[in-house]
Amino acid sequence: MTRYAGDEIVERVLLSEDVIAARVAELGRSIAADHSGHDLRLVTVLRGSVIFLADLCRAIDVPLALDFMAVSSYAGGSGGSVRITKDLDDPIEGASIVLVEDIIDTGLTLNYVLTMLRARNPASLSVCTLLDKDVRRIVDLPIEYRGFAVPDRFLVGYGLDIAGRLRNLPYVATVREDAVA
Ligand code: 5GP
Repeated sequence: MTRYAGDEIVERVLLSEDVIAARVAELGRSIAADHSGHDLRLVTVLRGSVIFLADLCRAIDVPLALDFMAVSSYAGGSGGSVRITKDLDDPIEGASIVLVEDIIDTGLTLNYVLTMLRARNPASLSVCTLLDKDVRRIVDLPIEYRGFAVPDRFLVGYGLDIAGRLRNLPYVATVREDAVA
């Protein structure tokens, strides 16, 4: 396997490049089939999800637009307190929104973002996540498009970072326990 800077902390490849590519193609076909003739917008929360977004949008064979937002959790906050640090550029009223996520863990961040977007009256609002750590879920959320259910382990690669690094690994991997301790 090709070596990447910093990948010595990788324990095991969980999802290979090929496995991810095949699933992303399927997700893209599903989203296209459900949104033909719609004003489709893929909305992405920066930063990790942009890797998935870049592949997913090219697997969707209907017209669409991209928009981005950024959020940060309040320091020491609990219960999903989130602050918008970059809002969407365009209004979404009447548009069909697919919120693209890299991973859903507790669901608190996503829950906040969905509530905020719903208040802007889109025609529809659905969620597409590549990875779902469903055993950790605190808030029950509807997820229309799900790539893979994953175990409760800290994951890196394909957009997921550890201290800002390893987002560029082309696969999703677990890291050695001592690296996250
Ligand atoms: P939630 O609000 O669902 O608990 O948090 C979701 C966010 O937590 C993800 O967007 C991601 O930034 C981060 N996250 C959750 N699990 C992992 C993981 O296994 N690895 C990495 N790198 N980030 C994770």
